[in-house]
Amino acid sequence: MIEKADVVIVGGGVNGCALAYELSLKGIKAVVVERKHLASGATGRCGAGIRQQWSSRENAALAIESVRIFERLEEELGSSIGLRQGGYLIAIHDEKDMEQAEKNVEMQRSLGLDVSILEADEINDIVPILDIEGMKAIGATFCPTDGHADPFKTTYAYANAAMRNGAEIYRFTEVQDIVTDGEEIKAVRTNRGTIKTGVVVNAAGAWSKKIAEMAGIELPNVPYKKEIIVTERMTRIFDAMVISFRDGIYFSQQDEGQILGGIPPPETVTGYKTEPTLSFLEHMSSTLTRYAPVLKHINVLRQWTGFYDVTPDALPILGEVKGLKGFIQCNGFSGHGFMLSPMVAKLLAQLIAGEKTSLPIGRLNLERFEKMDFEKEKSVVG
Ligand SMILES: Cc1cc2nc3c(=O)[nH]c(=O)nc-3n(C[C@H](O)[C@H](O)[C@H](O)COP(=O)(O)OP(=O)(O)OC[C@H]3O[C@@H](n4cnc5c(N)ncnc54)[C@H](O)[C@@H]3O)c2cc1C
Repeated sequence: MIEKADVVIVGGGVNGCALAYELSLKGIKAVVVERKHLASGATGRCGAGIRQQWSSRENAALAIESVRIFERLEEELGSSIGLRQGGYLIAIHDEKDMEQAEKNVEMQRSLGLDVSILEADEINDIVPILDIEGMKAIGATFCPTDGHADPFKTTYAYANAAMRNGAEIYRFTEVQDIVTDGEEIKAVRTNRGTIKTGVVVNAAGAWSKKIAEMAGIELPNVPYKKEIIVTERMTRIFDAMVISFRDGIYFSQQDEGQILGGIPPPETVTGYKTEPTLSFLEHMSSTLTRYAPVLKHINVLRQWTGFYDVTPDALPILGEVKGLKGFIQCNGFSGHGFMLSPMVAKLLAQLIAGEKTSLPIGRLNLERFEKMDFEKEKSVVG
């Protein structure tokens, strides 16, 4: 194992691998330490939807910039990432939803996003199988450049490109301690040896709180168990991801025809339990078939679980921690860290290189929770 590195990244999910790649472009030697295989955390279990329609300016800006990167990523990395831009259709259920949607759309348009508000009778032009009465929609918002990419292909494309540029990735290697001296990072201890470094990036997803504890830092993040299903294949009939903030449901049709989707389980479960539940399956099936009755004829093939790493405002924690030089947070994505990863990686690489970040990330630091200076993201599903 390497003895010394400029940067040690804890976690080989999409964020850790994307950051290793962005650092490699700047000639900064990064080592990714992953205790299982790449994408074994939330990344390999996620819906991998890519949405730019957020209520907070921070999430919207990160997602918009990320989509620009996703659109040229295959060419840049030299491998497929399975990007498909079929749009996101977000249900509006009542006047209160409409008021919020109008505010969101105004802010999103101010960032240059092509997004519109649809009347109820325009919804079936986008997704023909939706039952407007069943889903209780009075309208929807729609952004045609939202979409989906393959989380495994994306992670491996980043990882392989990073390794070609000199990054090292240690799989099946567990970080067990972070060695500090006063206000400085000195090394990372793993089950396979110690790596001396002055910079550690905590990209450990739902386990980030534990990694931070190793450095004596407390994060407010909580792991929530989430469940998701995929059905058998059917003829391709729609391209958009359908979601509702009120019902919490999201579903889309994959390239091969399967329906992939999730909804918050009826019982909220925090911690690291991984068992799928029948109550989730029933809730998901009944809501899905209320939205799209034609799907009652299709069988669910698989159901699995993963964790959201949730912060009090559902926005990520990015940047250096006050009082511990070189300890960089890249976590707390609260269920939307796949879609933000390209831009987050770029920004953190700029920060680590001592450059001015191309988007301001100061408001996403850890200290916002101490000061109680934050506003909750309203556009959350799953
Ligand atoms: C059901 C579900 C659906 C989702 N849908 C979407 C979606 O549609 N769109 C979207 O953008 N996001 C979605 N998400 C969220 C998204 O999956 C995550 O935000 C994103 O994948 C986080 O990536 P990451 O690299 O930060 O973390 P992870 O992918 O969780 O990677 C963290 C890694 O750290 C490793 N690790 C932990 N502890 C240690 C240690 N001590 N030593 C070494 N390695 C360690 C883990 O093994 C893991 O591989 C969903 C999540 C779930 C669970």
